[in-house]
Amino acid sequence: MTARVADVEVSLDHWIGGERVPSDERFEDVSPIDERVIGEVAAGGADEARRAVDAALSAFETWGRTSPAERAAALHRVADGVEARIPELAAVETEDNGALLRSHLRGVMPRVVHNFRFFADWLLQLRHEDFDTRGHRNHVSWDPAGVAVLITPWNAPLMLETWKVAPALAAGDTVVLKPAEWSPLTASLLADVAAEAGLPPGVLNVVQGVGEEAGAALVSDPRVARISFTGSVPTARAIAARAAANLVPVSFELGGKSPLVVFGDADMDLAVGLAVEQYDNAGQVCLAGTRLLVEASVHDRFVAQLLDRIAALRQGDPRDPATDVGPQVTRAHLERVDGFVRRAVADGATVLAGGGPNTELGGLYYRPTLIADAPEGSEILTEEVFGPVLTVQSFDSEEQGVAMANATRFGLAATVVTSDDARAERVAAGLVAGTVWVNCFFVRDLRAPFGGSKESGVGREGGNWSFDFYCDVKNSVFAPSGQGRT
Ligand code: NAD
Repeated sequence: MTARVADVEVSLDHWIGGERVPSDERFEDVSPIDERVIGEVAAGGADEARRAVDAALSAFETWGRTSPAERAAALHRVADGVEARIPELAAVETEDNGALLRSHLRGVMPRVVHNFRFFADWLLQLRHEDFDTRGHRNHVSWDPAGVAVLITPWNAPLMLETWKVAPALAAGDTVVLKPAEWSPLTASLLADVAAEAGLPPGVLNVVQGVGEEAGAALVSDPRVARISFTGSVPTARAIAARAAANLVPVSFELGGKSPLVVFGDADMDLAVGLAVEQYDNAGQVCLAGTRLLVEASVHDRFVAQLLDRIAALRQGDPRDPATDVGPQVTRAHLERVDGFVRRAVADGATVLAGGGPNTELGGLYYRPTLIADAPEGSEILTEEVFGPVLTVQSFDSEEQGVAMANATRFGLAATVVTSDDARAERVAAGLVAGTVWVNCFFVRDLRAPFGGSKESGVGREGGNWSFDFYCDVKNSVFAPSGQGRT
């Protein structure tokens, strides 16, 4: 079964062993732009999961033995295919998850291409110096591990999928990808691209379906060698329990409640600009610095400037290049976001901007919201909202600012704005987070480790860290030549 989405024909079936596979069960894929049903997507379960792992295992026998040069060439062909289809992929992604078309065209899809090219090239220069133990040579190699199950969320579907698919394939693993049921379409197009690029059947498989069924079946299969998951903390706990039963290594990239710490010496235009960026993707960004912590001396000036910038944000159809803030992904998610704001107000917080759905636009559009005066320890300061909702608090000293920034069970990212270089170093060192940005935001280099501290994740991916995870790293020790002869 297919659907025509933004003038692109998209298969709504699974892609297993190089074939389109339907399911009797199907689920509705709804566009966040106007809540229309895009199509009925195949809902996989235990059978489809088993079949996909069968296909991936059988393909591993050959793919796991291909040379790094062959794998790198295959990944570059996939990158070429993605590059040639950027406008189509961008348009379909926007229909499917409601994120801005202009971001998909300019940033997200080029980054998908880069994911493939980067890990193809990194594979070719993976090295570890051999070292000597009393004349014996230690040689470290990154051997393929087997079948990798990759489970991903809806907020940046193809980008987050390929950030795992590319290194897993580069490592020589074969892949079963389970995209989020709220944004299944570009993963299906990726399967087409991979097939056109000549990836052998079974090397990349896509199982569509609901997390608790398709996802749970995949992560329970004892034949799986690696599980990499991006999503929420509760789902990670469910996956961890199943993975633990089979002792399968996991990599988890989870939620956040990241601080954006503005010191009195900060460039105020920069600080306010960085704060307003946190509404990107309608706030549905794991890394977003949603807790604005501002030194008391500049708090009022910062808030006044930020309110002006919020008022200037244009909300609307994500296909319109003039739009800054699009819709929430589903009605249930919009209601969840609104629930957080209502409870914050009931707890005594003040809404400085927004505070509810955009009634002029209707649908799934939620107004960019700024909340002040939230009581210490209240839900709005501690739980991830994952919508266009920021809180602002003030602090009196560097020590207090750092303590407030760290006062969360999450540790995904933190942003610091200061013009004092010595302070920047001290504060960056004191923050507990996988990534700290100083006077910038979202600068990502695929060579760098990426992941979260505390409940924001388990492990790191990126550069060598991705290969450490997706490979079976092996040390071979060779006695001096001649010593084995009898
Ligand atoms: P989610 O946990 O609800 O779903 C993520 C994926 O897990 C989906 O594909 C879903 O089908 C699947 N799933 C659900 N239950 C499952 C189960 N029992 N077994 C196996 N798979 C299951 O998360 P979401 O709502 O799609 O995404 C939002 C969350 O993701 C937020 O918390 C956000 O911060 C986080 N996120 C983190 C990063 C990061 O890099 N750290 C990036 C993006 C999003």
